Amino acid sequence: MSVATVTHDLIVTQTRALKLPGVARTFDSLARQARDAHWPHEDYLHEVLSAEQASRHESVIRQRLREARFPEVKTLDTFDFTATEGVSATQIHALARGEWVTAPENLILAGPIGTGKTHLAIALGVEATKQKRRVLFTRAADLVRQLLEARDARELTRLQQRLLRVDVLIVDEVGFVPFERVGGELLFNLITDRYERRATVVTTNLAFAEWVTVFAGDEKLTTALLDRLAHHATVITTKGKSYRMRKRRASAS
Ligand code: ADP
Ligand code: MG
Repeated sequence: MSVATVTHDLIVTQTRALKLPGVARTFDSLARQARDAHWPHEDYLHEVLSAEQASRHESVIRQRLREARFPEVKTLDTFDFTATEGVSATQIHALARGEWVTAPENLILAGPIGTGKTHLAIALGVEATKQKRRVLFTRAADLVRQLLEARDARELTRLQQRLLRVDVLIVDEVGFVPFERVGGELLFNLITDRYERRATVVTTNLAFAEWVTVFAGDEKLTTALLDRLAHHATVITTKGKSYRMRKRRASAS
């Protein structure tokens, strides 16, 4: 065995022990390049460390994307801005930069079914994961059920703390299922906890005036919740016909 092979194997072992997958993948080919082009040693080291940095960056983003639990991954480049009324490409691309997450501000996507609200919420969530933000996608009914279950199991505080660590909480489909009193209150508490601390995205098929029907007719709670939610918020109102229906019609004709 040549000295080079022994050293090679030792490096591979070291990258495992030190958890340096980026170095493991690149050190060999970079060494060849370095020899061929007579790089100074520092340049070689710099290239190898850059590869490790890039690899770590990518793996954090992959992790964030997994943790977000998107039902399916939707992206901005597959969103057809000419197909949905009420949505400005300029505005969405500005939101994609993520300043609203830092602020933090909320985002409310309201409009009829099939007009791309969930698509946009996911796509902006995906953009946030690229900025290493913690994102969590959940349907309103599931979230409320989870909160109720946690309360019954005396684990509510833990769940609340976990949810508070999420930088962008996407609550999809507020308005599809009305909440009972306690469920509504738990959602209210969550929104109140996040107020001015973390960004929240809500999609809904309801106009604000109709929200009270979701919260068991509780005017006071609904007003207070909307107040917190909409205080620092971008409100986007999608309009028009369902995208899927239109696609179906277009392909049928
Ligand atoms: P909503 O949440 O408003 O009910 P969705 O976002 O679920 O609507 O959209 C329904 C389907 O149509 C999804 O598959 C979505 O990707 C697609 N869709 C809706 N609007 C658009 C659009 N403007 N461009 C591309 N796909 C769209
Ligand atoms: Mg939807």
